[in-house]
Amino acid sequence: MSYVSNRVLKINVGFLLADGPGHLHTTRFDVPEVKVAEDLILNYVRGPLRLSRTKEGILVQGQLEVGINGECYRCLDAVTQNVTVDLEELFTYPLPHSSEFSVNDTAILDLGPLLRAEVLLSTARGLLCRPDCQGLCPDCGANLNHTTCTCRPEATDPRLAQLKDFVK
Ligand SMILES: [Zn+2]
Ligand SMILES: [Zn+2]
Repeated sequence: MSYVSNRVLKINVGFLLADGPGHLHTTRFDVPEVKVAEDLILNYVRGPLRLSRTKEGILVQGQLEVGINGECYRCLDAVTQNVTVDLEELFTYPLPHSSEFSVNDTAILDLGPLLRAEVLLSTARGLLCRPDCQGLCPDCGANLNHTTCTCRPEATDPRLAQLKDFVK
């Protein structure tokens, strides 16, 4: 396993909390293969991130490019896809928190759960190996991108069927 730990997604924002409302900090992610959660490994996470200190906590804004490994929902081939996720979320501070995300007692802002949620959202419709993926034959399971099968020679053009009737 060559991925890095999701520690890289935990940002210490102590300095920004101390600076007070109105201050902001910009950073840039360029992380290689990373295990975001037990069920999610990304090939990379890249892009700008902006952290703004507000009265309520830290507002996170960013546009991150992530590489996702998965399988095509039509043909089940392995797929690697580049997806851009837009992040905009308030991490409340101090506790008690009223939102889903918060900065913890040791001033750590964990981007992992938010990133995971956004990635799942953007891939909810499923990944495709290519826009015109032909999928699997429902009868024999052949991958119709790589091969043809003879399961349904009659499943032809309806106009041809009409022609057959006409000939009779
Ligand atoms: Zn496919
Ligand atoms: Zn078939």
